[in-house]
Amino acid sequence: MAKRSKYVKPEHREFLHARVLGSKQISPHFVRVTIGGQDLNSYTPLGFDQWFRLFLREPGQSELRLPTTTSKLWYAQYLAMSKASRPVIRNYTVRSYRPATDARYGDTPEIDIDFVCHGSGDDAGPASTWAQSATPGEEVALLDEGLIHNPAPEARRLLLAGDESALPAIAGILRSSPDDACGEVFLEIPQSDDAQELRVPDGMTVHWLPRADPHDRPGTLALEAVRSAKLADLPDYAFVAGEQALAAGVRRNLVNDRGMPKPEVAFTGFWRFGHAAG
Ligand SMILES: Cc1cc2nc3c(=O)[nH]c(=O)nc-3n(C[C@H](O)[C@H](O)[C@H](O)COP(=O)(O)OP(=O)(O)OC[C@H]3O[C@@H](n4cnc5c(N)ncnc54)[C@H](O)[C@@H]3O)c2cc1C
Repeated sequence: MAKRSKYVKPEHREFLHARVLGSKQISPHFVRVTIGGQDLNSYTPLGFDQWFRLFLREPGQSELRLPTTTSKLWYAQYLAMSKASRPVIRNYTVRSYRPATDARYGDTPEIDIDFVCHGSGDDAGPASTWAQSATPGEEVALLDEGLIHNPAPEARRLLLAGDESALPAIAGILRSSPDDACGEVFLEIPQSDDAQELRVPDGMTVHWLPRADPHDRPGTLALEAVRSAKLADLPDYAFVAGEQALAAGVRRNLVNDRGMPKPEVAFTGFWRFGHAAG
């Protein structure tokens, strides 16, 4: 039998240009930015946790400059650009995609991105800051990266865990999972009002884990919840993402303490406490 690959990579990649169509604060710690444009007709939606590199102009830059290749060399090319002309690059998840062919949505394909609003002053990152003041017409670009979540087709018992940065990914995984999927979802959020309506298969239970204080260190609560969970059966597959220590800690618990096979635990540090991405 052919070995299953770790990730699902897009068949074709190109830089997709789009513009901000609108943005709204959807909960105390999330801003939803909608982008759109004819380039998004070339986007192939794969569902689940499909993610992409987002390219933004640095404040003060007059144009959004991009590498010219999308091969593996794009990052080297990016590093070779002068610091003054390089864009900001951060990773985000497609929260929703609406194709232009869907008559309900008009003739422009659209993507919603849910940004966590984190930090302020020196702690705030460029992407989170950008999202909170994104105005219609601003230019962005995307590079599709495909899926991290890639269970065996027969896997039904799932365990999903993450902090707020993984809420869009987990929402997408739940939306795309088979109706007979079952298992537990542990989602840590800054406060209870940050919970969202999600499509959840009947056999799956979502445990929303609001922090006692929104400023407490993210990830601690979700890690503790997984460690102390009484799981009736070992999951077939687990997806965990969020702050690095949460992702690594859950993986250790599932693999070392509970005996899950390593390849069946997809764990990704979406961000690192005290370290800017990029
Ligand atoms: C595959 C993938 C998909 C992702 N999808 C999403 C998504 O859909 N929505 C989303 O909001 N994030 C998502 N992330 C996480 C996002 O890329 C990081 O949070 C990123 O660091 C944000 O960039 P920034 O410019 O705001 O902050 P940075 O410049 O990277 O960091 C500045 C400071 O903020 C801290 N920081 C960064 N992120 C957070 C956070 N979430 N909470 C608290 N402090 C933080 C850093 O530790 C640093 O001290 C995803 C990451 C990956 C790898």
